[in-house]
Amino acid sequence: MHSRDHLCQTIRRIDGKGYKAYKELQGLYDFSPFVLSIDHVQGDPFALSSRVSVQIPSATAGFPQQLFSSKIRKIALADYLARNFDQAIDEITKGQRGTGKSGLFFIESGQQEVLERNCMDIRPEVVEARFLMGLPADGRRILGRHAEEMFFIELPAIVDQALLFENLTAESVQQYIEVIEDQEALREQLKEHSLVAFVGNGSTLPRRSGVDDRPLVESNAGPVIPFRSPPELEIELSQPNRGPIRGMGIPEGVILIVGGGFHGKSTLLRALERGVYNHIPGDGREWTVTIDSGVKIRAEDGRYVEKVDISPFINNLPYAKDTLSFSTENASGSTSQAAYIMEALEMGSKLLLIDEDTSATNFIIRDARMQALVEKKREPITPFVDKVRHLYEDHLVSTILVLGGSGDYLDHADQVILMDQYLPVVVTHQAKGVIEIFPATRKAEGGTEFGGLPSRRPAARSFDARRGKRPVKIDVHGLKKILFGTTEVDLSALEQLVEIAQTRAIGEAIFCYADRYAQDVSLKEGLQKLMADLHEGGLDILSPYKVGNLAKPRIFELAFAINRMRSLKVQ
Ligand code: ADP
Ligand code: MG
Repeated sequence: MHSRDHLCQTIRRIDGKGYKAYKELQGLYDFSPFVLSIDHVQGDPFALSSRVSVQIPSATAGFPQQLFSSKIRKIALADYLARNFDQAIDEITKGQRGTGKSGLFFIESGQQEVLERNCMDIRPEVVEARFLMGLPADGRRILGRHAEEMFFIELPAIVDQALLFENLTAESVQQYIEVIEDQEALREQLKEHSLVAFVGNGSTLPRRSGVDDRPLVESNAGPVIPFRSPPELEIELSQPNRGPIRGMGIPEGVILIVGGGFHGKSTLLRALERGVYNHIPGDGREWTVTIDSGVKIRAEDGRYVEKVDISPFINNLPYAKDTLSFSTENASGSTSQAAYIMEALEMGSKLLLIDEDTSATNFIIRDARMQALVEKKREPITPFVDKVRHLYEDHLVSTILVLGGSGDYLDHADQVILMDQYLPVVVTHQAKGVIEIFPATRKAEGGTEFGGLPSRRPAARSFDARRGKRPVKIDVHGLKKILFGTTEVDLSALEQLVEIAQTRAIGEAIFCYADRYAQDVSLKEGLQKLMADLHEGGLDILSPYKVGNLAKPRIFELAFAINRMRSLKVQ
C-alpha cells in the first residue's frame, strides 16, 4: 500500500500530461482512517468515469451491530449509506471542472425502491463504498490541481460525512432500517392470511408524473387522496417495529378493479406491481406490499417467442402452426400476452397483474355477438376470461385485473373493487345483482381445465457474448435495453424492472447463467440455482471486476430478459 503523499507526488508529476498518465494512479493508498483504492482508471475523460472505492474498518465506522444483524437490515443499512454518500457528494463537491465527466463523483444509489446493491458493502471487518470519479482534464490534458482537490479535500469530507456513524443522525438510520424491516414483515404475513397484496390506510399511491416516481404532492391541480380500505376488506397486520397497521387485504383468487376512467384504477395496480419491492420512508408506498411472485403482464406485439406452450390460450392457428411449442419472430398482441403469461407461470408466479389498458382486446374478451359471427373453430384465441378461473382453481394462481369495459369477467370474480374518486369501494354484491339482471349471453370456450404449465431447457449456445474482438461485451442502453454481444434485448415490456443497476445485473447474470447454470436443467431450475448463489455470495459473483453498479433483479425479470433474446434456442 502506498502513502497518501505518494499519490500527491504522482499527481503533481503527471500534471499537464496526456490523460493516459492517470493510469499510474491505480493502486491502494493509506488515507487513515480509510484505505483509498483506485481500482480502474479510464483512458479518456468522456468515457464512463474511473472506478474507485474506499474501505473503512468497522471499528472506525462504528455502526452498532444491531443495524446489520439480519440480511434485510444489512440491505437497508447499505441502501441508506449509499443515499447518504450521494447526498454528501451533492453537498460537498464542486461538480464538473474540466472536460466531459471531469470533477464528478457518482454513486449508484437508488430511487424509490430499496434494493440489494453492491455500491456499498458491509462486511464484518470493513465498510466499503464503491463509486466513480471523473478524473479532471482540460481536453485530454491532466488537471492535477483539480485532481488533488478531489482526492485530498472532497473525498475525505464525503467519507467523513457519509460513512462514520457518529456523523449520522442515529434516529434517522434506525427509522430507515425499521421501515424496511416492517415492509418485509408485512409481505411475509400475506400468505398466512391468504392474501396476495396489502395496501395500508394512509398510503399515497399516485406518483408525480409518468417520468417521476416520487409521491404526488398537493397542488393547484387538486388534492392527493390518501388510501383508505373499504370496511369489507380491512384487515390488521402487525409490524415488528411500528406496531399494528390496518389496510386493505386483497385476497387470493380473481380480483377485479373496476371504475370510471381517471378514477385511480391503474394507479392502484401500479402500486401493487411495485409492492414486490420495499420502498424508502416517505415514498407513500411503504405499507403497500405484494407477494414476491407477482408479475405484471401486458401485450407486446413484435416480440420474439421461442417454443412456449401457449395452447391454453391459442389453438388452431392458420396452417396448423404449433401452439404447444410456439415460436415466432413477431408475436401479435394476443400471442405475446399469452406467451408472457405462460412464461410467468413457468417461473412459478402465483399472481398476475393485468391492466385492460395495456392488453390486447381480443385476448381479454370475445363477446356473444363475436362468438356468433366468428365460430370457435375459426378463432384460435381462447380469451383470458375463459381461463382466469381455471388458472386459480387448477394452479392457485391469482389474478388482479383492472377493467373498464369488459363486464363478462363479473361471472368469475371473487371480489370486485370499484375505484371511486381514488378510493376503493367493494361492489362484489352489486356485481352479483348485475349478473342476475344481465345473465351472460356468451358461451364459455375455455374447456374444463387450464392446461399444463411449460418448462423449457434453453441451449447454452443461445447466449453469445462476443462482439468484435472482445470475448465478452455486455452493455446496457438505459433501463430497458441490453446489448448482449451483438444481440439486442428489448425489455420495454418489463414494467417491474425499476433501476438500470438491475438491468446491468441482468446482463451479467445472463452470461453467468449460460456459463455455469444452463447445462441440462430447465430455465427455472438453472435460474433458481443462480439466485441461490446470488443470495449467498452477493452481487459480486456476477462480475469479474470490482464494480459498484449492480442491484439485485428478481428471478422473473431475469427470465423475461432471456425469453426476449432473439438468439434464444430451446432444446
Ligand atoms: P384510471 O386508470 O382509473 O383511468 P389513473 O389511475 O390513471 O386512472 O389515475 C388518473 C389520475 O388520477 C392520474 O393522473 C393519477 O395520478 C391521479 N390519481 C390517482 N390516485 C390519486 C389519488 N389518490 N389522489 C390524487 N390523484 C390521484
Ligand atoms: Mg387506467
